[in-house]
Amino acid sequence: MLMNLNQTYPFTLEPLPYPYEGLEQEISSQILHFHHDKHLQTYIDNLNKTLEPYKQLHSMTLEQLLTHLATLPPLIQLPVRNNGGGVYNHMLYFNCMSPNKNQIPNNPLNTAIIRDFGSYEQFKQEFSNHAKTLFGSGYTWLISKQGNLELLNMPNQDTPLYMGNPILNLDVWEHAYYLQYQNRRPDYIEAWFSLINWNYINDLYLDSTR
Ligand code: MN
Repeated sequence: MLMNLNQTYPFTLEPLPYPYEGLEQEISSQILHFHHDKHLQTYIDNLNKTLEPYKQLHSMTLEQLLTHLATLPPLIQLPVRNNGGGVYNHMLYFNCMSPNKNQIPNNPLNTAIIRDFGSYEQFKQEFSNHAKTLFGSGYTWLISKQGNLELLNMPNQDTPLYMGNPILNLDVWEHAYYLQYQNRRPDYIEAWFSLINWNYINDLYLDSTR
């Protein structure tokens, strides 16, 4: 079962959509235990603490909260941006991987990748370059703007929901790879490519064109 990105308050930690050992070669179970059980849990706890006194926000999904940050009470805009982003970004990141390795994009996403990047190889190279050159902590994103694909980097736990539909992200915070790859971020990026859950990304892409 995929993690549900449409939760509302109180947010809860859902299990990973695969066993902790499912990605072992590319991402160790040790990393997944820390990343899912500790890092994501902390973002969830902090988001719940932040929202607890604001009953009027308890029916809003993460997507709604993050898309309308500027309309939230000023006191909680930054904590929702950081912790709500931390929850949304991690759930998307975990959903975007699969133990069913070496999938390839199917249509209509494949056609869009070729149209907007020239080829899958070109897309992979551009995505990897973004991820390698992201300074500090953050994510590389593939977003769909009414079907048009764009790559971008965002720092920290910022989410590009206000720019389009996020359909794929890669966490390049050191906690995502350091235990297994130390400083070798390019090796982590290359390994992660074989884990991409293209069936799921294709569904998100289709939703973005409706
Ligand atoms: Mn992370």
